[in-house]
Amino acid sequence: MTATQGRLQGKNAIITGAGGGIGLETSILFAREGANVLMADVSDAALAKALAKVKEVVPSAPRLESIKCDVSKESDVQAMVESQDSWGGTDVIFNNAGIMHANDADAIDTPEKIWDLTHNINVKGVWFGSKHAVMSLRRHKKARGSIINTASVVALVGAATPQLAYTASKGAVLAMTRELAIVHAREGFRFNALCPAPLNTPLLQDWLGEDKEKRFRREVHFPTGRFGEAIEQAHAVVFLASDESSFVNGTDFVVDGGMTKAY
Ligand code: NAD
Repeated sequence: MTATQGRLQGKNAIITGAGGGIGLETSILFAREGANVLMADVSDAALAKALAKVKEVVPSAPRLESIKCDVSKESDVQAMVESQDSWGGTDVIFNNAGIMHANDADAIDTPEKIWDLTHNINVKGVWFGSKHAVMSLRRHKKARGSIINTASVVALVGAATPQLAYTASKGAVLAMTRELAIVHAREGFRFNALCPAPLNTPLLQDWLGEDKEKRFRREVHFPTGRFGEAIEQAHAVVFLASDESSFVNGTDFVVDGGMTKAY
């Protein structure tokens, strides 16, 4: 690697949920590190704004495009991944899109339709992204590939302020990622699950709303005394996407400021 090359130089990457939060910050860092980036999101408006932002802050981005994709629809995910065939095939996919619905609560109050919606996006979306990434890696005869799936610390520890459908969905992401990592290791395809703690992104802010008690019940667990920032997750994703993490596979990659170790 020369001094001018980035850590993701020449890699074709897809980032879902790129319209904001972790996905947007990761798109910026990926572009800065030399990746060709396809930003995907279900929201046209968020995607257009996010693409403009990455172009503005990384004018030297090698290749930067966007595509509308609802990750809960397999046809959308297939079209998204296959659109990178003309780039030389996908090397990295960050299956990051996810929702935490305002009406998601405990076992009694979570409506079944919110359960299904959450699982369709958070679980099936990751399955579809993983499936089509593997098909693309094989189609292009890649010797290595990195798939990063966004789970959450709630897959590891129970939250006192429940969002049961979300928690169950993230547990599924963790289990699925682990198994995919084992199954595809000999092909050179790595799978890791990113486990962020609560972060200052629209997803969390919308869910907390003005509820001070709910905020306190979450913040109190942080040894740092603060929630995380999306950029702090994005740095971890760059590592997992790069060849620097070539022996990192099947992990629950926890980026939480020590939250899950605190009591
Ligand atoms: P965000 O709400 O800021 O961004 C998520 C993006 O995903 C949005 O742009 C949204 O339009 C998009 N999206 C939603 N549904 C989609 C769909 N069906 N198809 C494609 N795109 C869709 O959220 P964030 O905080 O950046 O969260 C990103 C990931 O991190 C999610 O999987 C979330 O569950 C996870 N996470 C977030 C936190 C947190 O506290 N913010 C903590 C742990 C894990």
